[in-house]
Amino acid sequence: MKRKKSIDTLAAQAGVGADKAFGAVSVPIYTTAIYRYVAFGKHRGFDYSRSENPTRQAAEKALAELEGGSRAVAFSSGMAAISAAMTLFRAGDHILCSDDLYGGSYRFFEKVLRPYGLSFDYVDMADPRAVARKIGKKTKAVFIETPTNPLMKIADIRGVSRIAKDRGVLSIVDNTFMSPVLQQPLALGTDIVVHSATKFLGGHNDLIGGAVIVTDPDLGEKMHFAQKAVGAVLSPFDSWLLLRGIKTLSVRVARAQQNAEAVAAFLDAHPFVKKVFYPGLPGHARRELHFSQASGPGAVISFELAKESAVPRFLESLSTVILAESLGGVETLVTHPTTMTHADIPLAEQAAVGLTPSLVRMSVGIENADDLVSDIARALRKAERESDRNKLATGIRAPRQRRAGSEEERPRTGAEAAEAARAARKGGPGASGRAR
Ligand code: PLP
Repeated sequence: MKRKKSIDTLAAQAGVGADKAFGAVSVPIYTTAIYRYVAFGKHRGFDYSRSENPTRQAAEKALAELEGGSRAVAFSSGMAAISAAMTLFRAGDHILCSDDLYGGSYRFFEKVLRPYGLSFDYVDMADPRAVARKIGKKTKAVFIETPTNPLMKIADIRGVSRIAKDRGVLSIVDNTFMSPVLQQPLALGTDIVVHSATKFLGGHNDLIGGAVIVTDPDLGEKMHFAQKAVGAVLSPFDSWLLLRGIKTLSVRVARAQQNAEAVAAFLDAHPFVKKVFYPGLPGHARRELHFSQASGPGAVISFELAKESAVPRFLESLSTVILAESLGGVETLVTHPTTMTHADIPLAEQAAVGLTPSLVRMSVGIENADDLVSDIARALRKAERESDRNKLATGIRAPRQRRAGSEEERPRTGAEAAEAARAARKGGPGASGRAR
C-alpha cells in the first residue's frame, strides 16, 4: 500500500508537478487575464483568470492537500474567503460564532451582513452542549475560531462539529492561528475551513490572501462559484508567493513554536506580566482540549501587562520585536488588540469576553529566541521603570536589587531570562497580585 505523505513532504513539494508545459519545479507565474481558445467553444480548461488561473490552481491544489480536503479555493484576502463562505447563507439565517472573534470577522458580520438580515450570536465554544442549546431553528452554521484571536480560548472542534452535523448545521473553522501543520479541522468533522493565508501559510508578510477548503464536492463547487461570481481572486503573483511560502510552512511553524514556548515561559515568570494566554503553558485552562485536536500550541501568545498605562511604553521600547498588525510571519510582531486589530469591537463587548487594554498579542517568528527574550525583557524593564516613576505601579513591586539597565541585569539566554524573572518573582510581593 502506498504510504500517505506527511504534511512536511506535501508542504515542501507544493506546486511540484503543476506545470504540464515544461515540468518547471517552481510553478510559473501565469500573468495572463485571458487564454486563447483552441476552437470555437473549446479551450484548455482556462478561459479567463477570474475563473481559473494555472498558478492559482497549483496553490489551491496544495492548500487542499495540506488541509486534507477535496478542494480549496483561493481568495485575495482572508476576509474575502470568509465572505465567500458567507454566500451560503440568506437573510433570516442565524450563525453562531465563537466569542472573542478576530475583529475583522466581527466587523464583517455585524456591520455588513447584519444589515442584510443575517443574525449572529457569540458564544464560548469549549462546551458543545452549551453550543447545542444556542442552536435554534434559524441557525445555519457555527463559525469557530480556535484558538481565538486574541484571548487564545479553545473551542471543541470535534464536539461542536458533531453537534452541528446532528442538527443539520454547517461547521466552519477559521484555522488561521494553527495552520494545517498543527490542526486539521476537516479530519475532526468540520465542513469548511477558512484561512487568512496572509498569516502562517504565506509566512513572510508579503502577501494578502485567503482560502476556503472543503471535503464535500458540492460545497467546493459553491465556493468556486462564489470566487468567480464575486471576483475576489488571489492574483497569479500572490498565488506564487503563497506556494513559495507553503514550501517552508512545516519548518517555520516548528521553529516559531519553539521560540514561542521560550517567550511564553519567560513572560509567565515575569513580575510585570499579569497573565499569559498561551495553550502551551501548563496553566492554560483548556490545554488538554487543545492538545486533543492540535499537535502543538502554535506561535501566538497574548499577555496582560501588570499596568495598562505601561503598554505604550512597552510597545515603543521593543526593537527586535516589530509593532505591526499581523501574525504568522517569520518576523516577531506585536499588536495592541483593543486599539488595533479589534478596534471595531465595542469596548463593552471587548470587556465582556475579557479583552482588556492591558493585553498585548505577540506572534513569535523564527528569529533567535534569546534575541527575542532579551528585547522583551529590556522593554518590560523600561515600561516598568517608567510606570514606577509615574507612581502608577501601585501594588506591583518588581525586584530592583540590580542596577536597572546594567550589563549584569540583562539576561543572556531565554532560559537565563526566564530563570531571572522566576527568581525575581519569588522575591517580590508583586507575585501575589498576578492573576493566572
Ligand atoms: N481570520 C483571522 C483569525 C485573522 O487573524 C485575520 C486577520 O488578521 C483574518 C481572518 C482576515 O484575514 P485577512 O487580513 O487576510 O483578510
